[in-house]
Amino acid sequence: MILPSKHLKKVLQRIQQATKQANRETEDIRLIAVSKTKPAADVEQVYLAGQREFGENYLQEALDKIAALHHLTDIKWHFIGAIQSNKTRPIAEHFDWVHSVDRLKIARRLAEQRPPELPPLNICLQVNLSNEDSKSGVSITEVPALAKQVSQLKHLSLRGLMAIPLKTDDPAQQHFYFHQLKHCLDELNSQGMQLDTLSMGMSNDMEVAIAEGATMIRIGTAIFGERSAK
Ligand SMILES: *Cc1c(COP(=O)(O)O)cnc(C)c1O
Repeated sequence: MILPSKHLKKVLQRIQQATKQANRETEDIRLIAVSKTKPAADVEQVYLAGQREFGENYLQEALDKIAALHHLTDIKWHFIGAIQSNKTRPIAEHFDWVHSVDRLKIARRLAEQRPPELPPLNICLQVNLSNEDSKSGVSITEVPALAKQVSQLKHLSLRGLMAIPLKTDDPAQQHFYFHQLKHCLDELNSQGMQLDTLSMGMSNDMEVAIAEGATMIRIGTAIFGERSAK
């Protein structure tokens, strides 16, 4: 039996150590617990242990959990998966953050469909750092133009950038990719944007991401245990 709340404690300790090592404050890192493929009961356990922000990849599964956990009124949901353009409405209606926006069409739809009585939907642009054809994300050279367009849309709040670098155990490679994303954010801010979010770092590279300036880390396996193949 897994005990997600115990795992959560370990992850919080890793954050504490990594921030100390990087001369950063623990409060500067927001932990997103990635609960994809895991049941609502596991999410609730982690919630009861103090965690409030959760990330989901698969829309229908996420909507079922959001409905099942409706009584947890201060929970925050982050959509971090691939977005089909005909599925934007429920994302706009039920999430607080979307990390995986990589084209204007999606951003426009989210803006149009965000209920105006809700706060603006927080947006990160997903950047494809390794330029793999198979991965989603806007290429780094196209980020400034997309950021400018998205920042002008009503009912959205552009907050920063997200990336899922090529999986590697080589720390030098990990540093390289995360450093690129941080540099990209700094460039946008030097051109007058005010972006405060770098969503990068997962279970096996969160320390490197924190060293390179992550403000949000997205942790699944280290909290909820291994996922069975979907
Ligand atoms: C699954 C997933 C995570 C969590 O990955 P772990 O290695 O399980 O921590 C983070 N971000 C995204 C976009 C994911 O799809």
